[in-house]
Amino acid sequence: MKELRSHALVLRTMPLGEADKLLTLLTREAGKVKAVARGSRKTKSKFSALTEPLTLGSYLLHAGKTFYTFIQGELLKSYTGLQYDLERLAYAQYFCEICDRCLPEGEPSETVFHLLLTALEALEADPRPARVARCFELNLLEELGLKPALDACRVCGNTAGPFRFDPHAGSLVCTACPRPADSLPVNAASLAVMRRLLAYGFQKLSVCLLSPQSQAEIHQVCLGLLNHIFDVKRLQSLQFLMANKLL
Ligand SMILES: [Zn+2]
Repeated sequence: MKELRSHALVLRTMPLGEADKLLTLLTREAGKVKAVARGSRKTKSKFSALTEPLTLGSYLLHAGKTFYTFIQGELLKSYTGLQYDLERLAYAQYFCEICDRCLPEGEPSETVFHLLLTALEALEADPRPARVARCFELNLLEELGLKPALDACRVCGNTAGPFRFDPHAGSLVCTACPRPADSLPVNAASLAVMRRLLAYGFQKLSVCLLSPQSQAEIHQVCLGLLNHIFDVKRLQSLQFLMANKLL
C-alpha cells in the first residue's frame, strides 16, 4: 500500500459518519491532501491532538481510493498561542481557509507550506496581527502566480501615479487613463508597503507600519485578485473578521 510520510498542518476537520473525522492537511511533500482519521471522535488516543485544526505534526498516511487514511503521527506543534486570542485565531483560520480554497489537491506546494508556518509563527508573536495577514496575503498571491504588478500604469507606462489597481488585470492604472471597471483605490503609502512586503516577506516585518487606510486598501487589492479566480469572499473566517470589524 502506498504510504505518505510528511510534516503537515491540519487546515480543517469535518465529522465523517459516526466516529470518524475527515482531515484536510497541507503536507510538505504532497501539497493539500484529505485523510480519514478513523474513530477519532469516539476514543481519545495519543494521536487525538493530531486530528485537531492548527496542529503541525509528522504524519504517516496510507493512500486509499478516494482519501488517505491516517495511521499514526507525532505532534510537532499546536499553535496554542493563537487559541486564546479571538483576533489571532480568526486570522489563523482565515490563512488555513484561503490555502484550502486556493490550493489544488495533491499538488506539491512546499513553499506555501513554509509560508503558512511562517505566517502562523508571526501571528503568535507580532503585536499587530493585521500586518501579518497583509504580508501573508501578498506572498501567497505570488506563490499562486498572481503577484500584482506594481511598477507602472499598464496603459501609458506612467510610474509616478497617482494610481488605482485593476484586479482583473492584476496591475496599476494611473488616474489620467480611463478608469477600469471594479478598479480599487491604492495610495502611494499603500503601494510602498505592498512593494516592501513582496520584496522582503516576513523579514523585518516589525518595522513595517501600516495606517488603517493602507491596511484596508491592501486587503481589498489582495481580495480582488484572489476573488477573480477563487471566489474567497464567502469564506467563513473572512465573514467573521468583517462582522467583528477586525478587517
Ligand atoms: Zn496611465
